Amino acid sequence: MGFFHISSRGSLPNFACVFIYFMLQQYSPSLTAYKRLPTREVKIGDLLLGNNNPIRIQTMTTTDTMDTEATVAQCIRCIEAGAELVRITAPSKKEAENLLHIKNRLKAAGYNTPLVADIHFTPNAAEIAARLIEKVRVNPGNYVDKKKFDLIEYTDAEYNAEIERIYERFTPLVKICKEYGTAMRIGTNHGSLSDRIMSRYGDTPIGMVESAMEFLRIARNESYHQVILSMKSSNPQVMVQAYRLLIQKMDEEFGECYPLHLGVTEAGDGEDGRIKSAIGIGTLLEDGIGDTIRVSLTEDPEFEIPVCRDIVKRYSNRIAHEPIQSFEDATALPYDPSNYKRRETITAGNIGTGHVPVVVADYSKVAAITPATLQAIGYKYDELLDKWNIGDMAADYIYTGSKVLDFALPGTLQVICDHDTWQAATDKTKYLPLVKADAFLNGNAPDATQYFVAADANTPWATQLQLLEKLKAHTNAVLCLSSSNAHRMPSMRRLLAEMIAKQVSNPVILMADSNDTTIDEQLITFATDTGGLLLDGFGDGIWLTANKEIQNLNITGRTYLEVKDQQQFLNNTSFSILQATRTRISKTEYISCPSCGRTLFDLQATTAKIRNATNHLKGVKIAIMGCIVNGPGEMADADFGYVGSGPGKITLYKSKEVVKRNVPSEIAVDELIQLLKDNDVWVEPAVMA
Ligand code: SF4
Repeated sequence: MGFFHISSRGSLPNFACVFIYFMLQQYSPSLTAYKRLPTREVKIGDLLLGNNNPIRIQTMTTTDTMDTEATVAQCIRCIEAGAELVRITAPSKKEAENLLHIKNRLKAAGYNTPLVADIHFTPNAAEIAARLIEKVRVNPGNYVDKKKFDLIEYTDAEYNAEIERIYERFTPLVKICKEYGTAMRIGTNHGSLSDRIMSRYGDTPIGMVESAMEFLRIARNESYHQVILSMKSSNPQVMVQAYRLLIQKMDEEFGECYPLHLGVTEAGDGEDGRIKSAIGIGTLLEDGIGDTIRVSLTEDPEFEIPVCRDIVKRYSNRIAHEPIQSFEDATALPYDPSNYKRRETITAGNIGTGHVPVVVADYSKVAAITPATLQAIGYKYDELLDKWNIGDMAADYIYTGSKVLDFALPGTLQVICDHDTWQAATDKTKYLPLVKADAFLNGNAPDATQYFVAADANTPWATQLQLLEKLKAHTNAVLCLSSSNAHRMPSMRRLLAEMIAKQVSNPVILMADSNDTTIDEQLITFATDTGGLLLDGFGDGIWLTANKEIQNLNITGRTYLEVKDQQQFLNNTSFSILQATRTRISKTEYISCPSCGRTLFDLQATTAKIRNATNHLKGVKIAIMGCIVNGPGEMADADFGYVGSGPGKITLYKSKEVVKRNVPSEIAVDELIQLLKDNDVWVEPAVMA
């Protein structure tokens, strides 16, 4: 436990503590049983948050804050959908003042939902809003500092002088909040860290933590505790690591934790936005971390709420249970949860270290498997030329259960089938056997060059340990790991950690099934249960199955990619999860802001247009940001940026550098394509025969 003394105001960060960040690994009350992280309680209007109160759901408006009618109407739509807090941008004093009109109009209509003013760069707007509404959000990266992208080397004296300056500028807001009973979020964004933080810590999770801690120390110094913190990034891996480190740091320095607001920024739209959000938010919620969530989608804000509810309801129904096996010493995990490193394995065929995680398509329930049915998983057969066209998102394995196929498969696709079926198959290089763990433990291993062992991480721990012993001696076995435990992801993680501790290096394919009935629920289940493991470096493959057929794969009014059937949905989801965890890049990545009152163009329509034109550019990261104030800072590690810079005007970026300023919006998408061509990343879209 650490303590904050008034004398440490203005002091340099303690580098011994920075080192300890990597040594301490306890960031959750339990890594195996579901328990909420204890946090302070914060009151926002009548809403209580933290301290085991329900996980609160929130969103942010996209209207112009000066358009009272439109903002009130949008707030009501969000509240009716279930938002418990609504954030509204206040870019200057006049918008901050108008928040009172919005609040009064909502009250008159019978809505007392607390409002939050979103502040960037403007302390004067924050100080007004803090007197008028229930909560303000400040960004410690730009509340006092102006970002110049200067990587200045600060001396200790200069660094301390900067902290002193923050103290002077930020304390008045803290005093106002304290006087008016207003809550505050100190909301760090990975993409908008100050030059001072960047110069000392770089673009890192630790830098994000220190950025918030500087402000939190000041609040505590004023005995002001109505504080919530967030550590957002468009990269779920960075975001998850930053929250874990923040918890450790608060515990070490203050001996307590403030409530946490979870979110992935610029997550985008459609299934990618949902998957990225579910991976980032869900991974933390699995460990009991998080008191309120926002899913940032490039869609109307009321569409964010059902996604939030689907995420949160997983935990409202999660009953307390005894884990199969706890960690004996949680401070000594055999891997570092705040520093990504993929678990090292032996290689079995194309699975394991040296290979990207593979995708297994489960066709065991497909009545008749024909060349045409493989189109859903990236293989299109051209009868005329007798050749297969293989897409970027083509599965690596197909599981057929008890079926042997009566046609020649593409060279890149192998078959996993049940052991009996494999024994009868003639081509034993194309077909590989799957055995259940109990059969593997009680009998002989298959006489195959490569085979798969299906195990449930919910079996007695002694049985799991026996399995690891046997696997260690069978280096051509790939473990296909699922769990029937209600707390699935942590139960699988427990066995995977034991594999590291016992040096059992067989590759592992992560299996997840879903009994959900909607597309959103299935995306959230798959993304959380496998994504959380991939973020910790576990998993050499992914195998998803849906136990219930979803009738409506294309939800109108939303921007889901078109999918024709369940197989295609599962295959797309597998590749999207791997992409979001950055473990296998197979498509273009879009970082698009959710838009807000600062947005200067139709962000949803423009995102769709850019996506249509560029979605064949595998691995290229394109940011589409609504405004020049925050857009360039928050587009993180995008390769190219399309940023609104004035009414009808777009500024194009290559990385963080401006390439073309104030391009008329009518030609801006074409200019973006030209920029991609000038930088040799453009290829003409392939036409599948
Ligand atoms: S980048 Fe987008 S969400 Fe962020 S302030 Fe600008 S318009 Fe609003």
